[in-house]
Amino acid sequence: MKTGQISVQSENIFPIIKKFLYTDQEIFLRELVSNAVDATKKLSTLSRVGEFEDNIDNCKVEVKIDEKKKTITISDSGIGMTEEEVEKYITQLAFSGATEFVEKWKDKEPDQMIGHFGLGFYSAFMVAKNVTIQTKSFQKGSEAVEWNCDGSTTYTLDKGKRKKRGTDIILHLTDEDAEAYLSQWKVKELLRKYCRFLPIPVEFEGEVINNTNPIWTKKPGELTDEDYKKFYQELYPMQEAPLFQIHINTDYPFNLTGVLYFPKINQALDNRKDRVQLYCNQVFVTEDVKDVLPEYLVLLQGVIDSPDIPLNVSRSALQSDLNVKKITSHISKKVSDKLQEIFNLDRADYESKWEYLDLITKYGMLSDEKFAERMKDFCLVKTTEGKLHTIQEWIDHCKLNQTDKNGETVVLYATDLSAQHMSVKNAKDMGYEVVVLDGQLDVHFAGFAEGKFEKTKFRCVDGGPMDQLIEKDVTIESVLTKEQQEEIEKQVKSIINEVAFDVKMESMPPQQEFISIHRSEWERRMDEYAKMGQSMPFGDLGLKKQTMVINSNNPIASKILQKSELEQKESIQYCIDLALLEKQQLKGEALERFILKAKQLL
Ligand code: ADP
Repeated sequence: MKTGQISVQSENIFPIIKKFLYTDQEIFLRELVSNAVDATKKLSTLSRVGEFEDNIDNCKVEVKIDEKKKTITISDSGIGMTEEEVEKYITQLAFSGATEFVEKWKDKEPDQMIGHFGLGFYSAFMVAKNVTIQTKSFQKGSEAVEWNCDGSTTYTLDKGKRKKRGTDIILHLTDEDAEAYLSQWKVKELLRKYCRFLPIPVEFEGEVINNTNPIWTKKPGELTDEDYKKFYQELYPMQEAPLFQIHINTDYPFNLTGVLYFPKINQALDNRKDRVQLYCNQVFVTEDVKDVLPEYLVLLQGVIDSPDIPLNVSRSALQSDLNVKKITSHISKKVSDKLQEIFNLDRADYESKWEYLDLITKYGMLSDEKFAERMKDFCLVKTTEGKLHTIQEWIDHCKLNQTDKNGETVVLYATDLSAQHMSVKNAKDMGYEVVVLDGQLDVHFAGFAEGKFEKTKFRCVDGGPMDQLIEKDVTIESVLTKEQQEEIEKQVKSIINEVAFDVKMESMPPQQEFISIHRSEWERRMDEYAKMGQSMPFGDLGLKKQTMVINSNNPIASKILQKSELEQKESIQYCIDLALLEKQQLKGEALERFILKAKQLL
């Protein structure tokens, strides 16, 4: 037997390793099983180049637990190691890798890294008080070796027990970790999580737990739609079939494979489960891909696999990594290509899927300039009649009738058809058409689209009196004198809370309401910014929230002026209540008063 000393600067590497990734301790199993898989794959490479002749078809990796001895064993029949190799790879290379890793990260928050790759073999010491390696190299005439280390800096090397080529890694768990990891259920769960698509069969309890040939490793030409659907079910068992998928298969200038699905869901941005999974050579890394994919693509589902995404760096380093940036924009390009393809091949199909594409497309356009350029002519708007048009088509359609005196085409939109029913009707009565923008990001998007389409304005139907939303080159004289207007205005102001309303007297066509309430486009957009948690670009200027517009040309105005002062007040109050009612703002005692008044009138 030989005793060796691990050459160390920092004596306490094991406690650090152990403590360091306490939240992600479980990755030890992923690291050790992937090592076993690598050792097996190396045999096939050797066999391919003629350096190894035995049959390697049935190679597998086995994981076993022994509750009595408190051990987990990971066995492979891969290339194995000679004594020199154990010294070189395990005590020198692996150790220096782990030391370097700990040196770099010991003062950092554990969750700053993605994947925690790079710890490798020594991650075993996160759960084991003692690790034994039994190994025998594939090389002819090599002797079996046993390596033991108790987590101190001393290790022993001895004659090993293995008769056949390959390696057993035996973890003697600490009492505390034995409790956590010595259950069949737990080990199976971990294997299913991390090893589900490893390329070599992994057996636990007599059962192979992985699909060694997942769909993304195959060529798109070999696959049918059915195959993609089946794989989706495998990933997300209880979910409705996806709309379509994008198969990514790139090997230059970076290596990237994967299948991304457009799910049949359009739920809120922030409560997504069953997300895109990130793999590295078929080893599961994480479901938290927000640093690798732009946020709008995190809404997709499926798998991406790339050995070119650095996994042992901090999240911020990852975001600025050049490869990651290229990968991200490649995926985004693939997504827009696919959407364009469906639109061009079968517009009806595209339209039928639009309700699910809407959010991802708009979110993408809002957050990625290049994506916006590519998708600009493929983003649809829906009319109140349910018809879909591209934005440009719609602008062209509205041009004739809805262009204002400055030559700008006004796209009228509703954010809530039921609440804005009266305003929509009013617009239609004037011969205007309205689209529905009732999605989470739509008010933002309206502002954004104005910048993308020249000479176009988006205005919410209840953002003001119609003739102000689409200003035509006509001036209407007021039928009331200045004094009469002031009289009414004074009455209105005496009734309402002037902090909440900005009162404006206007001379509009007589058929327009006498008193109406509006929230300007600007106010609406500011509210949306605030809702999205973005600070308002101009701060809170203490501006009044709504505008109360009085139409001096509505016949009611003239009639009211003929009444006594008390009756005037009552009538104006009633008209204000009607305006509030239309905006669903008449509540509590005010509503009670209004109902009583209505009964009296009956
Ligand atoms: P990495 O896998 O990143 O190289 P590890 O610390 O996991 O780092 O392993 C270090 C080295 O030990 C490997 O590169 C490999 O040469 C050797 N090794 C580890 N596990 C096995 C195994 N099961 N069979 C053969 N060699 C192994």
